[in-house]
Amino acid sequence: ARKQREAEREEKAAGQQREREEIFEVLDKNTCKLVAAEYDLLMVDKDTSKDTKGRKDFVSEEDIDHLQPRPPVVTVMGHVDHGKTSLLDYIRKSRVAAREAGGITQGIGAYNTTVEVDGEQRMVCFLDTPGHEAFSAMRARGAQVTDIAVIIVAADDGIRPQTREAVAHAQAAEVPIIVAINKIDKPGADPERVKTELLELNLVPEEWGGNTPMVLVSAKKGEGIADLLQIISWTAEEKALVCNPLNRAQGTVIEAHLDRKVGPVATLLVQAGTVKHGDIINAGGAYGKIRVLKDDLGNNLESAGASIPVQVIGLNLTPMAGEEWSAAANETEAREAAEVVQEKVRMQRMAEMTGGGSMVTLSSLATVDEDSEAMQKLNLIIKGDSMGMVEAIKASLSTLPQEAISLRYLLSGSGDITLSDIDLAAASGGLVLGFNLEPNDIVETHAKRLGVRVMTYKAEVKAVFGSSKSKVAGCVVTQ
Ligand code: GDP
Repeated sequence: ARKQREAEREEKAAGQQREREEIFEVLDKNTCKLVAAEYDLLMVDKDTSKDTKGRKDFVSEEDIDHLQPRPPVVTVMGHVDHGKTSLLDYIRKSRVAAREAGGITQGIGAYNTTVEVDGEQRMVCFLDTPGHEAFSAMRARGAQVTDIAVIIVAADDGIRPQTREAVAHAQAAEVPIIVAINKIDKPGADPERVKTELLELNLVPEEWGGNTPMVLVSAKKGEGIADLLQIISWTAEEKALVCNPLNRAQGTVIEAHLDRKVGPVATLLVQAGTVKHGDIINAGGAYGKIRVLKDDLGNNLESAGASIPVQVIGLNLTPMAGEEWSAAANETEAREAAEVVQEKVRMQRMAEMTGGGSMVTLSSLATVDEDSEAMQKLNLIIKGDSMGMVEAIKASLSTLPQEAISLRYLLSGSGDITLSDIDLAAASGGLVLGFNLEPNDIVETHAKRLGVRVMTYKAEVKAVFGSSKSKVAGCVVTQ
């Protein structure tokens, strides 16, 4: 009987061992990528700290024991005059008033505010970037700073071209979208019409069975803004945003300028670790010791943690918005890191002058995908001389076989190819197609620098669904 028990134990142990071996089988990178894609998981490459979507991830396995929640970073975007400034001002003013700090300090491109949710004070960081162009310009440089996008739409005006663009940029960045329907105090306000229009952009209100929260607000009167802040906070909670405060401090440059008296002044968003007064950092091609560390209200700080924007003085040069910054062990390390960035910028300029691009192009992305046998995804931006043309092109593209290539429209519309289209394409590894229009020189140079392919065609709408004359549109393209 003892022998039998022993044999059973041995058999059980061997079984467990087999199971462990099966579970702990090491997978190669490509298999991991496929599994991650299948289950819609993000995979982070340990060597580069970038995830499968090319975004920098500031938290790794080693941080697990030290993770703490961090506030969300929110960007507000929308059509001009729809009330973005009024909304941000209202939130900022109420914050200043609440703290009796008196007077509003000059905008530094980002600020924190507190929201009361379920009796608790929670923090939210707002980025006050000039528009969706800045949002994608940052993404084009590899920075992913926004956790949530608020799209503001005036209830008396509805969806306008820049609303479409803002939504396209937020969707391409794959951040959750909250819609603020503004100006509800105005006589002509028609929030229901705005909601209907938004369906066209794949934004379906929660009350209609979709998953986009939409809040009615008046940035002028302050109505609905508490609700908006609460929904932002709930959305952040769902995302379970975390950081490890013990890590090396790092993040993204939000804004920087040269002050005649104090030298370069930079607004930095802390995305990992804790930055301290006296830290030696590099920010893009600049480096230096933090002589002055301030919060968004201009108060001196000893230290600041994740999702907090800080103003620093002490850098030797003015960095660019969207560049990465990080704390270094000593000045030599910081200087060397800055030199590496300077060298990269120099190489890019050289490539620009010689006509070559140094960033990943769509064709190289396509070969990577071929290796892993994954379906090729083509991110497209389509611009045409008329909306009818754009619709015709999309209709013909939809007739192409979709098994080998899946098409995703980042943006389509009538009008010129703009710098912001190029940034959007660069940030998402996309391709820009122009029909009956040519990019101007500035746009073309920008595209070359970022390695974005812009292909232009002459096309006529009359031949829709005709015979194939071009490999791109299949039918309407004549030249
Ligand atoms: P931005 O271009 O999106 O930053 O828009 P602004 O915040 O500058 O607002 C444009 C205009 O709309 C200004 O004259 C604001 O006073 C006005 N405005 C903004 N929000 C509201 C609102 O909720 N109600 C009303 N009646 N007017 C508003």
